[in-house]
Amino acid sequence: MLNLALMLESSTRLHPDRTAVVCGDRRLTYAEVNARANQVANLLRHRGIQPGDRVALSCPNIEQFPVVYYGILKAGAVVVPVNVLLTAREVAYHLEDSGATAYFCFEGTPELPLGETGWTGFSAVDTCAHFFLVTADDRTDSPVPGVLTLARALERMPTEFTSVATDPSDTALILYTSGTTGQPKGAELTHSNVVLNVLTCHRTFGTRPHDVHLVALPLFHTFGQTVQMNAGFGAGATLVLLPRFDAVTALRLMQREKVTVFAGVPTMYWGLLGADHSAVDLAVIAAELRLALSGGAALPVEILAQVQDVLGVRIHEGYGLSETSPLATFNHPDRETKAGSIGEPVWGVELRLIDGDWDDVPADAVGEIAIRGHNIMKGYLNRPDATAEAVRDGWFRTGDLARRDADGYYFIVDRAKDMIVRGGFNVYPRELEETIMTHPGVSLVAVVGVPHESHGEEVKAYVIKKSGALLDEASLIAWCKDNMASYKYPRIVEFREALPMTATGKLLKRALRP
Ligand code: AMP
Repeated sequence: MLNLALMLESSTRLHPDRTAVVCGDRRLTYAEVNARANQVANLLRHRGIQPGDRVALSCPNIEQFPVVYYGILKAGAVVVPVNVLLTAREVAYHLEDSGATAYFCFEGTPELPLGETGWTGFSAVDTCAHFFLVTADDRTDSPVPGVLTLARALERMPTEFTSVATDPSDTALILYTSGTTGQPKGAELTHSNVVLNVLTCHRTFGTRPHDVHLVALPLFHTFGQTVQMNAGFGAGATLVLLPRFDAVTALRLMQREKVTVFAGVPTMYWGLLGADHSAVDLAVIAAELRLALSGGAALPVEILAQVQDVLGVRIHEGYGLSETSPLATFNHPDRETKAGSIGEPVWGVELRLIDGDWDDVPADAVGEIAIRGHNIMKGYLNRPDATAEAVRDGWFRTGDLARRDADGYYFIVDRAKDMIVRGGFNVYPRELEETIMTHPGVSLVAVVGVPHESHGEEVKAYVIKKSGALLDEASLIAWCKDNMASYKYPRIVEFREALPMTATGKLLKRALRP
């Protein structure tokens, strides 16, 4: 049966005593994670949660995340992961939109949706009747009077549970994503979508039961959630959880836990490069690390090269979206890796490049990536129009522009919505960023379009300088002028100490546009 909860159960049967999760000084075996997930499933049943009900979870990367996530799945319910950094109003939107009947909320959530006397519920969310406060270290005493902690709620729950049978086409997860436009929409992923993507990860990366993953990507997001947590549990691997990405801590953990798989967004690799390396032995880390994955955003070729030079690690880049479960393409380890490319489609997945009318663009032309395969979501929850716009005849249009080379490798040019139109010319920020990253004084750059009276849009670069670099706006603009065509080089440069990022670590260009 294609059921996500069974992945954890099979690994538990095979290796009950193997370490499943490491979080700080705590270590849980597969048998322990599975038993605690069974308690969560019993709790949900006890509270009357039915198979197919939606249950929301906002929790950082601590052991309670997989315990609750798998408990919800065992009960036959649908997991709605919620970003732990959202405001109370945004959380209410997710609960209401998904129709969640229960909500597991971490105690460190910045705006806890609590009234003075405890969980009052959101006035708008009357479906959500059950609230559990997830405490770090599983403290049973509640920091908020009248609010039930998860640990207390689980106290008398049995550790045995027979997982509810599901159909492969039943929804397992609802992942909220902005997609290409508008309010966040819930991408409904089925058990079949996610289990087949897990198996595809195993096939693509090579399954090693003794792999040790460093999970620095937030687990609410599809990349860390399926490529590391679900695929890791499916293979009987060990997950070392990092609640919040910090480059030095990440390197220390890699060395201490002999990490073999790391997955990150490009800014994490950038952070690893700039970190103080004095506390670790990079050669020891590189010798253990068999796979370094990058995805979620375009990996600048310069960062790829520097990681290889400085850390001695070759990065393999892949591509996917929440709507594609997520893995869709990869630079396969046993094939040629092309810098700047997202690689080739993974097993059982097809790609083509289309125009606005869903027709194929000519070879060599830039087109929008459309994807078909076992990984395409069922649709956006309760949004038939948005689903019909995005999916046609099994093909999902991504909003990402790319070209394909003669070997069938895909190269992302940019996201359609990030493209700048300056004086009638299309400017792709990614191309400019790749060039500006090669300037010796530049550490990181993000290029966006800003409104301009006569050109429509003007090209602006936000730059973090390398420490000690003597660089001013005029000299960088002059350098860009020498290295890029006249219609596209940035006319405005602003230096920043930091650039805004999403909780996943992707550069948040929206926040840089006026
Ligand atoms: P999400 O649904 O949050 O995972 O976001 C998916 C989006 O991330 C895609 O539509 C792309 O714009 C971007 N993305 C993912 N992987 C890559 C990659 N390797 N290169 C460029 N963009 C990527």
